[in-house]
Amino acid sequence: MQNNDSRNQVKLPFGLRGEKLLHITEVPKGLACGCRCTACGSQLVARKGDKNTHHFAHYQQEECPHAVETALHYAAKAILEQTLEIALPELIIQEQVTGETCGQSRTKVDQITICEKAIKKIDRVELEKPLNRIVPDVIAYIDGKPLLVEIAVTHFIDSSKEQKINDMEIDTVEIDLSDVDRSIGLESIRSAVVDSTSNKAWIFHSNEKSIRHQLRSKLESELKQELDEIFQREQEKKRIEEEQLKLRQAKQQKIRVLIDKCLDDSYKHLISNSQLESKYNQEIQSQPAWKRSASIMNISLETLPAFLNIPVKGEYIFACDRRVWQAGLFSSFIYNKFKKYENPYPIRLEAMNKWCSKYLPLNNFALTLWSKKQILKPDELAVLNLFDSYGAIREFVRHLEHAGFLKYAYKSRYVILKDHWPTHELLEQNDNSGSFDYDHSGMTENELEQFQERAAIHEFCGGLPRIQAERMAYMSLISENNQN
Ligand SMILES: [Zn+2]
Repeated sequence: MQNNDSRNQVKLPFGLRGEKLLHITEVPKGLACGCRCTACGSQLVARKGDKNTHHFAHYQQEECPHAVETALHYAAKAILEQTLEIALPELIIQEQVTGETCGQSRTKVDQITICEKAIKKIDRVELEKPLNRIVPDVIAYIDGKPLLVEIAVTHFIDSSKEQKINDMEIDTVEIDLSDVDRSIGLESIRSAVVDSTSNKAWIFHSNEKSIRHQLRSKLESELKQELDEIFQREQEKKRIEEEQLKLRQAKQQKIRVLIDKCLDDSYKHLISNSQLESKYNQEIQSQPAWKRSASIMNISLETLPAFLNIPVKGEYIFACDRRVWQAGLFSSFIYNKFKKYENPYPIRLEAMNKWCSKYLPLNNFALTLWSKKQILKPDELAVLNLFDSYGAIREFVRHLEHAGFLKYAYKSRYVILKDHWPTHELLEQNDNSGSFDYDHSGMTENELEQFQERAAIHEFCGGLPRIQAERMAYMSLISENNQN
């Protein structure tokens, strides 16, 4: 609906002379025009001055409110009667359906053309003839069927009229003439009413309801299929998740049983410790690790120094007498290193730990528990710490440090200060005093690689003899590690 201001701006362009509708341009000025108002029938005067747009006015009375609207209805009817054809716009409808399943929402949208743009032949035209409960502006009969043509100038179809048209189910088109310049005559109105489609809109199309219904059914069925697929997928996902959860729980259960068994073995081990000690004591002489260190250090159980038989926390991990592993570590990592090398590389605790796992019998139940450390409870971890090879070695090494054999260097590494004990004099003198002899047994792979690379640079780029190049590489590596 347009407001009254715009209505007031529209001047009446047509008058009716007899049955003939005449445009202001077709009549002489003044009362000589001989025209009457199409709406109220009053006498009109043609205003054709120099200032204002030429127009008709009611003679000696107020302008009537429907004059312009009715005049244009007359004009439209006259044009349609004359041309007997009308271009109708295309009608495209869109439908959308939305649904949800398993928290997922899906929307289906599609559109369909109900009718294409087309020029239709008109049989006959009727003006403002009441039809059921409404008075259409113009009724054009096409192929024997009525087409209601609503002319909108200032007054567009309101919802009440639209509802009535829908109820009547008669094809209806609205023509928007609000933008047409009426001062230039019938031609511009003709093109708007007959030829143009851009200013026309379907208010009702008899095919729309059923086609819209079909489109909606199609979308609903597609939506249902998609939602069903989502539901199936989600069900399957849920089923797999439940299955995996069961498997996980079963696995955890199995691991728990294993842990309980190992913990049980640990407690048994702790309870029967005194029996185990005497058993280990009897086995010492037959332990390969003991035989090896006894031979290297030329000692027996009787001559074994006290610092190689120190009880430490964590030692229950070893399934042997503590003299076996402590003498083993001393003989492998410390004993006579200065005799062998001028510069023994600092000892790594990790390397000692590795040696133990390679050459000593360990309690497997505890190793199993270590592999499940992440899921043990605090009290179980406390038990496990009694079976800790790294912890036991660390404590043993600290005792050696106190005894003056080792000195802490850096990053769990110790340098050797003394490689034998006073009562145990070396049999031979170091005869390598003039040459550099390095020990790389404590180096990590990465350090060994760096050492060799640096030595090569000093040798080939610096032109040093090999022995000096190695010495420089070795010293720089140790001093850098110290700084870190
Ligand atoms: Zn009038």
